[in-house]
Amino acid sequence: MPVSLVTVSYILAGLLFIVSLGGLSAQTTARRGNLYGILGMLLAVLATVLAPQVTSYGLLIGMLVVGGAIGAVLAARVEMTAMPQLVAILHSFVGAAAVLVGFASLLGPSTGLAGAEARIHEVEIFIGVFIGAVTFTGSVIAFGKLQGVIASKPLLLPGRHVLNLGMIATCIVLAMQFVGVEGPGGHPPVMPLVLCAGLAALVGIHLVMAIGGADMPVVVSMLNSYSGWAASAAGFMLANDLLIITGALVGSSGAILSYIMCAAMNRSFLSVILGGFGAAEGAAPAAGAAPQGEVVAITAADTADLLRQASRVIIVPGYGMAVAQAQYPLYEITKLLRERGVEVRFAIHPVAGRLPGHMNVLLAEAKVPYDIVLEMDEINDDFPETDVVIVIGANDIVNPGALDDPSSPIYGMPVLEVWKARTSIVLKRGMASGYAGVENPLFYLGNTRMLFGDAKKTVDALLAALRD
Ligand code: NDP
Repeated sequence: MPVSLVTVSYILAGLLFIVSLGGLSAQTTARRGNLYGILGMLLAVLATVLAPQVTSYGLLIGMLVVGGAIGAVLAARVEMTAMPQLVAILHSFVGAAAVLVGFASLLGPSTGLAGAEARIHEVEIFIGVFIGAVTFTGSVIAFGKLQGVIASKPLLLPGRHVLNLGMIATCIVLAMQFVGVEGPGGHPPVMPLVLCAGLAALVGIHLVMAIGGADMPVVVSMLNSYSGWAASAAGFMLANDLLIITGALVGSSGAILSYIMCAAMNRSFLSVILGGFGAAEGAAPAAGAAPQGEVVAITAADTADLLRQASRVIIVPGYGMAVAQAQYPLYEITKLLRERGVEVRFAIHPVAGRLPGHMNVLLAEAKVPYDIVLEMDEINDDFPETDVVIVIGANDIVNPGALDDPSSPIYGMPVLEVWKARTSIVLKRGMASGYAGVENPLFYLGNTRMLFGDAKKTVDALLAALRD
């Protein structure tokens, strides 16, 4: 394929990625957005494979087949609940790729660049390896936290900000020993780059270890952003325009998403990315005051009676609904109640579940109409006029302590104010706390009833009782 055709294909692919992002911004157009993204990526891979720089196809096709097969099997097998971990580990691959491309650019055949151009290329290598290593280890730690193999509690080392600053300052000193310095082999010395990769790897581990459970959504989107910048850096090293454009698109959209998540959780962006900035040094935050009183349980039959008498119902889904896959019978209940003239709507908290948009995807899967699925800001004022709220597998996102308990680690995060409804019914298996590990005073309030059991089984029982 001639160079001009490759360039045109890259521009087309870049445009498709931009249209794809536009489509992904709304539920109704998301499917089309995804399709544009797939087309863009197909075009990008084809143009790269057929570019004049590729001289031997054996290894390339072998890697494409093996990589494609692993990706297809993983994507087909992954449970919706394990999606965040998959995303985190995929980010780590982008980081690792940027580090490897950096070392390959340094140690591979000479680029023939001289003077300022050579210096710029060395800076690109150094920055690419730094961002890549931070992304790699940060994403591996995020994977561990989401998978539950690393505790979600923040690790707050004494003087951690000084430690981070010290490591970053050392990397700057190492950069000065790398850029413009001729080592053995006619290229800059390898050792400063190796040390930079090691220190950046430590920065990645330390930054993500310091971030607590409830702030994890921001970490996932932030690492998404880092992986974009790492890809962009690899694009500069390889002089590949499309990689630069795609990386910048991922980097900036990830940064915007992180900002939106921070705003939704009422957290300062800077404090989250610096790892619990402002929290007490050397100590984990307090776990919130222990709730008082006893919980009152309710049966599926009694819940069905309450729903029969209700005229306005709001359903609040959370992570437990995803685990139980209860969205399908839940929609059956919704249809039944709507047929009987009851107003039923869904309230979505921005960090419900384990991925941005997690609940929207599950409800769309069950074919719940988009117009009855509302964001927190659109529905939070309606709880006082609501007869029954069904909280299904949600916990942190309906915790009143976030509004009135300054000792709670999630204090300040806006939540769905379900307790303002006449009755809230909480469907969960036991009294376990949510992802942030905080006690929930909602369960002990006078107008709260606990409907214990696996969400899917409970919703099935509720549906049967309603049909009776
Ligand atoms: P939570 O994790 O706070 O609570 C989920 C609840 O579901 C648990 O308390 C659990 O209680 C219950 N549950 C689990 N399995 C079942 C089941 N099979 N049937 C019934 N109930 C079940 O979820 P929320 O959605 O309320 O909040 C999300 C949390 O995750 C927030 O802290 C958020 O910060 C964090 N997070 C969000 C991310 C995102 O991007 N959205 C990413 C990473 C973290 P029990 O065991 O007693 O049944």
